[in-house]
Amino acid sequence: MAITEPDMGSDSGAIRTTAVKDGDEYVLNGEKIFVTAGERAELVVVWATLDRDLGKKAIKSFVVERSNPGLKLARLEHKLGIRASDTAAFSLQDCRVPAQDLLGDPEIRTEGGFGGAMQTFDNTRPLVAAMACGLARGCLDLITEKLAEVGVEPDHDAPLHRQPAAAARLVELEAEFEAAYLLTLRAAWMADNGHPNSMEASMAKAKAGRTCVEISLACVELAGASGYAETELFEKWARDSKILDIFEGTQQIQLLVVARRLLGLTSAQLK
Ligand SMILES: Cc1cc2nc3c(=O)[nH]c(=O)nc-3n(C[C@H](O)[C@H](O)[C@H](O)COP(=O)(O)OP(=O)(O)OC[C@H]3O[C@@H](n4cnc5c(N)ncnc54)[C@H](O)[C@@H]3O)c2cc1C
Repeated sequence: MAITEPDMGSDSGAIRTTAVKDGDEYVLNGEKIFVTAGERAELVVVWATLDRDLGKKAIKSFVVERSNPGLKLARLEHKLGIRASDTAAFSLQDCRVPAQDLLGDPEIRTEGGFGGAMQTFDNTRPLVAAMACGLARGCLDLITEKLAEVGVEPDHDAPLHRQPAAAARLVELEAEFEAAYLLTLRAAWMADNGHPNSMEASMAKAKAGRTCVEISLACVELAGASGYAETELFEKWARDSKILDIFEGTQQIQLLVVARRLLGLTSAQLK
């Protein structure tokens, strides 16, 4: 999915890449950065505007074959984490795609056009939240094992202040995980069952993204020297976690979406 550009990230409506109709084809021009799996993908979904002057409502998505000569790989990013996942930058130079490869309605609608494209996130945000829960669960399982090896085992029925600090911290982290996990299940269930879930998807993504960063760093701390060493997975998970709080909309953007929904305000009213 190629949305992000050198001059736009969070504000998806500010896309500059253009798509111009030419007979039975669209001609795409622009730059896309941070495209996850862009190198190994067979198809890339590129967001472009049919008319820059019309703002968000003219934005459409196009399926572009990776082998298309107009879709040029500019570079691969070197990153803090998720290094097993490639992150590509592309330049689209007179990239011709068949008109039928525009996803959805080719007409520019004054109402609801961009909302349709944004609904993509209602499905992808629960997915990223689930990735965050998976990473957090991995950290918690490993730290539980490591602490047990040195005789520290949390007692879920005892007050926290009567337990070793490490055990009490683990109980707190498990509670954070549970909250993120339940929000994620709800958002995913709603997506699977066709219920509008924009707010719930953002709640899950915000909570799970934030929680996996907190848990992964707390586990580096709890594990002592081995937490920071490359001999264990804690240091890798700590590096991997932050992106789950950034892509598919940052922590701040998720909170903004939730606030708009709760307060009944539009994106123009609450920026
Ligand atoms: C490894 C990686 C993989 C990625 N994969 C993809 C991909 O596959 N496809 C794709 O299209 N993009 C991808 N991205 C891009 C990612 O979605 C963006 O980085 C993200 O949306 C943030 O945009 P930005 O980096 O331009 O930051 P900016 O939008 O410039 O934001 C910078 C900071 O300001 C905050 N901020 C921005 N606006 C507001 C606001 N209104 N209120 C409060 N705070 C605000 C943000 O939360 C952030 O903390 C990827 C990024 C990375 C690093």
